[in-house]
Amino acid sequence: MVSFALHGVGVSGGIAIGRAQLVSHATLEVAHYTITARQVAAEVERFTLAVKEVQRELEGLHSALTSGDSPGEFGAFLDVHWMILNDATLSEAPKRIIAEQHCNAEWALTQQMAVLVEQFEQIEDSYLRERKADVVQVGERVLKRLMGRPGALPPAKAEEQTILVAHDLSPADVIQFKHHHYGAFLTDLGGVTSHTAIVARSLNVPAVVATHNARALIRDGELLIVDGSNHVVIVNPDRAVLAEYRLKQNEIDLARQKLKRLRTKPAETLDGVHIELLANIELPDDLPQAVANGASGIGLFRSEFLFLNRDALPTEDEQFEAYRAVAEGMEDKPVTIRTFDLGADKQNEALEGLSRVAPNPALGLRAVRFCLAEPKLFLTQLRAILRASHYGNVQILVPMLASVGEIDQTLAMIARAKESLREQGLPFNRHIAVGGMIEIPAAVLAMGAFLKKLDFLSIGTNDLIQYTLAVDRADEAVSHLYDPLHPAIVRLLALAISQAAKAKKPIAVCGEMAGEVELTRLLLGMGLKHFSMHPAHLLSVKQRVLQSDFAAAKPIVERIRRADDPQKLHALLDRLNS
Ligand code: PEP
Ligand code: MG
Repeated sequence: MVSFALHGVGVSGGIAIGRAQLVSHATLEVAHYTITARQVAAEVERFTLAVKEVQRELEGLHSALTSGDSPGEFGAFLDVHWMILNDATLSEAPKRIIAEQHCNAEWALTQQMAVLVEQFEQIEDSYLRERKADVVQVGERVLKRLMGRPGALPPAKAEEQTILVAHDLSPADVIQFKHHHYGAFLTDLGGVTSHTAIVARSLNVPAVVATHNARALIRDGELLIVDGSNHVVIVNPDRAVLAEYRLKQNEIDLARQKLKRLRTKPAETLDGVHIELLANIELPDDLPQAVANGASGIGLFRSEFLFLNRDALPTEDEQFEAYRAVAEGMEDKPVTIRTFDLGADKQNEALEGLSRVAPNPALGLRAVRFCLAEPKLFLTQLRAILRASHYGNVQILVPMLASVGEIDQTLAMIARAKESLREQGLPFNRHIAVGGMIEIPAAVLAMGAFLKKLDFLSIGTNDLIQYTLAVDRADEAVSHLYDPLHPAIVRLLALAISQAAKAKKPIAVCGEMAGEVELTRLLLGMGLKHFSMHPAHLLSVKQRVLQSDFAAAKPIVERIRRADDPQKLHALLDRLNS
């Protein structure tokens, strides 16, 4: 076996050693993994069950249709689906594939569907040829059922983890992995602060994106070392390299254990300035990790993740339960719920009808713009957040504000939501704090008005960098231009933080920069006292805060702020960190 290395961009640090599991392009629906001989019977049974469920589903649809006054062709259409489902080529052949290839049911079915589609494409009769769409629809129904009940996870020896290798993954794909225990992630595409990378990071496993051709070069089951901190993947390592990495892995584990001792220690600089270290979460499930790492609150709850991977929008009650769970889980600590930031790289199937495909989604109807264009949806969320505010220390954060008009409209919506709750006699915190995200350069340059109308601010550096440097954060082709230390970014950050300090309004950084230890002193020197980051980074940032002098950082950061030359800027930063 040839050993080789692949380079990409490490978006989540650490080392993982495990076997590759390839998933096909962009979609997890056709995950492919091998199963052991002993798992074959259970996998066949899982497939049989899924087919039976779809049979029942079609029967249900059929009786619902025939009892109403729907046109007769719907019934006929369902009959065709019924016939396809019960044909041995769809309901039996995949079982043989599972047994012969020792693969998972989804993969067996997808392979068989491809065979059938090809056969249909060769039919001369155009009507019959078009029936291939029905085959795909029926096959997808079964696939969906299979996915609803994942089978045996790829077999992994206790000491061997599984490493997922994909061409590309959407944030929605990655969020599904929260319950699968992958050791690491690799993708061909992806930018450093794409939401895919952020979610991968939230799984707390090493991840390397932008590897260009990992999916094509790596084969299923090959042994991999993923070194997220050094942006490298080693395929089929030899024994010496493997031993060296196992040693490094142990050292990292040891350092992590040591850090845990800082969990309950207050985050205070050497000169006694208290720093709030808050957590970013995507779902209520992330809460235990935030608590385990000593978060002093939730600085960013990316609520739009409640929307992903589903056919229907979450109801007000469903949202309320999710927000309340987080509010109660954090007791009296602040819980900052960001209103939906949908659009750009986070899409929901159920919303597709509402939003058109924008020519440039990152500059389109995203975040607060989308919410203001869909007032019903926005109002539902605001009511849910307000209701949850009765159960904890909840505050509202509005993403991607560009102008004062948007603030006014949002505040008016919040007032309407409050009014409707009052009318219904439902309890909520009447004085709930409302903050805005500073993610667009225009917002920094016109921040005075923001400070007058809002209770607090939070800088989303991921987007601020994207919009200032005109670099798509999700596009690996330009990821080398994505630079948090570009002089323009440093100046915008310093300007935003100093303006908020003058106005005596709290300001946080909740983009990925907040979790980077190498930037902690830079931000402290700008006067930042609120950092919100992925929970996995909380303790290492706390350690850095404990070793830093708030006042002493200021003069050197002032020199960094004035530096135009990137080399000089980096040299000064090195001095600050030494
Ligand atoms: C940001 O843009 O920095 C941010 C925190 O929001 P998101 O990453 O979810 O866009
Ligand atoms: Mg953002």
